[in-house]
Amino acid sequence: MLPLEEFYPFLTRNAKVVITTHQKPDGDAMGSSLGLMHFLKKLGHTVSVISPTNWAGFLNWMPGCNSVVDFEAKRMQGEELIKHADWIFCLDFNNFPRTKHMENSLLAAKAIKILIDHHEEPQKDVFSYGKSTPAKSSTCEMVYDFIVGSGNASLIDESIAACLYTGVMTDTGSFRFPSTSAAVHRMVAFLKDKELRHELVHEYIYDSYLENRLRFTGHVLLNRMDVLYEYNTVLIAIPKGDLMRFGIQTGDTEGLVNFPLSIQGIKMVAIVIDRDEERKWSFRSKGNVDVNSFARKYFNGGGHFNASGGRATESLEMTVKNFHQAITEIKAELE
Ligand code: 5GP
Ligand code: MN
Repeated sequence: MLPLEEFYPFLTRNAKVVITTHQKPDGDAMGSSLGLMHFLKKLGHTVSVISPTNWAGFLNWMPGCNSVVDFEAKRMQGEELIKHADWIFCLDFNNFPRTKHMENSLLAAKAIKILIDHHEEPQKDVFSYGKSTPAKSSTCEMVYDFIVGSGNASLIDESIAACLYTGVMTDTGSFRFPSTSAAVHRMVAFLKDKELRHELVHEYIYDSYLENRLRFTGHVLLNRMDVLYEYNTVLIAIPKGDLMRFGIQTGDTEGLVNFPLSIQGIKMVAIVIDRDEERKWSFRSKGNVDVNSFARKYFNGGGHFNASGGRATESLEMTVKNFHQAITEIKAELE
């Protein structure tokens, strides 16, 4: 993988571009993809964003979101775009399995593949150019650096600002995590000068619950939360029946994992959701509890030091049992 800076000279040549990201894209995945899309279009490129799957409804307000191709719903269109692309930008993920059913099409594509990402341990051999910086707050911050670094800061407009702000806001927990550097605040100041309406972004993302989602949150915290004081850990296991009872859609479970971190002394939160095809885990931690390694070792996943995810093919009961075993092995870290 060559340094991303070495790709800058290519930006002046006209290209067919595909931008893609991880399955079930979150604010950072969608924000960085659309922010980059608007930028590359301004440079005159033909650009499509492909998402491996659908996404949360609270992202639909984002400028350009209605043009995103859902690969699961429009597979033929997605495959054609990938096949004919000159460049494929891979944002907010660093290994192809995170793109679910797109993996084989991406591997087979002849395009130049470019990585921009902030997760640990990238699969470097599959990318021609790229930047992987786990210390960065978000992929949106890295796309901002890419635009500024290539000498195009003047192209940042209100739409790009709203997209890029979204990912920085969501991935920093609204500017509270340690990754919120001075550079992040300087970026936000720059975006504010470009007419960014940050209060609207906050409203679209966080004040857009339907009643069922809030009641589901209450139900989960009351009935599904297991506080394991001996391990300073909270475990939440959500059976499929709960999702059906409350009419839960993609995105409705996002953020749930953060609530138990507000309990005094809790160092790790784990949540597992019984989805049709897999049991999906999310992990969050405070301080020196490394949930990236934990997710990698026990749950076929990864992510960041303090925020990661994984998955299991066994039943909900089995994977919960495995979790109880796994935390005995990291007890020293949790004390
Ligand atoms: P979330 O819990 O919000 O889904 O994900 C937390 C972080 O872990 C995100 O940065 C996400 O990209 C990463 N992550 C979530 N699930 C997986 C997974 O199955 N594999 C890997 N490698 N990373 C994941
Ligand atoms: Mn991210």
